[in-house]
Amino acid sequence: MAKIIEAARMDLNNTLKVDDEDDDYMVWCPDHNGTFSVNSTFNEVRGRSNEVEWCSFIWSSVIHPKVSASVLKLIRNGLATEARAQSIGVSLASCCRACYNGEDYVTYILWKCSFAQVIWQWPRQKFKCTKSTGNLKQAMRVEKDWSPLIKQMWTSTVVGGMMALWQQRNSMTLLIHKLLTVINL
Ligand SMILES: [Zn+2]
Repeated sequence: MAKIIEAARMDLNNTLKVDDEDDDYMVWCPDHNGTFSVNSTFNEVRGRSNEVEWCSFIWSSVIHPKVSASVLKLIRNGLATEARAQSIGVSLASCCRACYNGEDYVTYILWKCSFAQVIWQWPRQKFKCTKSTGNLKQAMRVEKDWSPLIKQMWTSTVVGGMMALWQQRNSMTLLIHKLLTVINL
C-alpha cells in the first residue's frame, strides 16, 4: 500500500497512520498531498471540456490579461449590444454605428462591417498576410514563414484591433446619444 501511495506522489506521512492507536483524520484524495484546498476543490467540481482554439490566442503572454478578459467577453457575446438586447426581448431597431448597413452585433462589428474590413486591411498589408480576416478563426491563422516574434506581433495586432473596433463602436454610440439629447433639448 505504501508503494502505491508513493507512486501516486502522495505524502506518506500525511496519508497513513504510523500508529493504529492514533486518532483518524480526513484525507482529501483529489489533491496529491492529501490536503484540502479551495484550488483542488474547484478543479474537482468544475466541468471540464475541450479547450477552444482561440483560448491560447487571446490568453497569450504578449496580451495584457485585462485586454484578454475584455476580448473574452466579446467572443462570448457578453457585452451590451442591441442584438443582445433584442435576444432578451427588448424591442428596438438594431443598427451598426459605423456603416448603417448591418445590425449591432459583435461578429458584424468586428469582422463583417465594411469599416472593420478597411481597418483589417492595414495590418494585413503591413504583415504581408495572405489570409482572410473575415472572422476570428481566419484572423488567427498565421503565415508559415513568420518568425515567433512576428506571430506574437500579429496576435497582439488582432486582439488590439478587436478591442479598438469595439471601443470605436462604443464611442459612436455615446456620441449619437449625446447628439440625440441635444436635439431633444
Ligand atoms: Zn458597420
